[in-house]
Amino acid sequence: MNAPLAFAYQALPMRVVLGTGSLDRLAEEIDHAGLQRVMVLCSPGHRELAETVAGRIGPRAVDIHPHARMHVPAESAAEARRRAGEVNADGCVAVGGGSAIGLGKIIALQYRLPVIAVPTTYAGSEMTPVWGLTENGVKRTGKAPRVLPVSVLYDPALTVTLPVAVSVTSGMNAIAHAVEALYAPDASPVIDLMAEEGVRALATALPGIVADGADLDARARAQYGAWLCGACLGATSMSLHHKLCHALGGTLDLPHAPTHTVVLPHVLAYNQGAAPKAVAALGRALGTPTDSATHLWDLAGRLGAPRSLRELGMAEGDIDRIVDVALTNPYANPREVTAEALGRLLRSAWSGQPPAP
Ligand code: NAD
Repeated sequence: MNAPLAFAYQALPMRVVLGTGSLDRLAEEIDHAGLQRVMVLCSPGHRELAETVAGRIGPRAVDIHPHARMHVPAESAAEARRRAGEVNADGCVAVGGGSAIGLGKIIALQYRLPVIAVPTTYAGSEMTPVWGLTENGVKRTGKAPRVLPVSVLYDPALTVTLPVAVSVTSGMNAIAHAVEALYAPDASPVIDLMAEEGVRALATALPGIVADGADLDARARAQYGAWLCGACLGATSMSLHHKLCHALGGTLDLPHAPTHTVVLPHVLAYNQGAAPKAVAALGRALGTPTDSATHLWDLAGRLGAPRSLRELGMAEGDIDRIVDVALTNPYANPREVTAEALGRLLRSAWSGQPPAP
């Protein structure tokens, strides 16, 4: 007999426009948000991208601020806020990956300016009410509805410059959101559908991007998947995989998306036996009825992605430290996490072995 159907689901109120040429709709979205003076935010290497975006906005683009950095350092947030005041901006357009969008969210949080997101990676931050800010080397995160972008434009044409290797790890990062949403304590049937479809879309799109980074259909499908997986991240509580990646990134400064790519198959293999519904959904999405963990590990290999923490620069001697950090604060996980099991899991992820059955 099935368990009785009962769940809570919070819909998030942003507008989404997806498809080649959707950047042409940016001015319309700015009208919709009622903005007159927008500041365009991007990371330092992407001024040209920001100029393309500003070109579509016209005179209402009052400044380009190319100073977004990974994990939003407090000084860069203060500088962007100061600049927004100086140019009297009434809103921001953040173009780029999680770094640019993260900066937009902090300006929305601290300065109450609405943000429109034009994502060009698959990290999914644009779909969540979660903000992050790094002060004195410590990253704080929180949830606030007002950091949600009012509109999100996904234009695949803006992503053809995203290097194939970055596209692959960013896509695996998105898949990780969906995997953990499927066994989250606050999962719902609505989120289950989005997670399954998000994994399906990305697993189909990524080989297409590896074959041809300029394939706009594959790029659009990856963005569709990133949107769904980001929405899953925004709607549920993440478990062991995200905590472990946070510990690895925060403690050892390992790169965000590659770390997710390496760790995911190992955590999934650990949790699979305790998460039959997630295994069934992933099996439908990936076409592997029982062992999605090995399938994801194989997929990462076929796509040329890193598969060991060692190649990301982690020293074997750091494993015990990460076990300690990852066990400091309790969190939900379908299977109990012990120091011994976590050590085993990390050793296997460090050396690049296939995930343990
Ligand atoms: P990122 O923004 O640093 O981008 C990753 C790489 O892609 C960078 O090297 C960047 O230069 C490159 N890039 C981006 N767009 C490009 C383009 N159009 N052409 C060429 N190169 C391009 O990082 P990310 O992986 O997108 O996001 C990671 C950050 O976002 C982390 O700080 C993470 O904590 C945060 N994040 C937050 C949430 C949330 O809900 N708050 C969700 C996911 C990620």
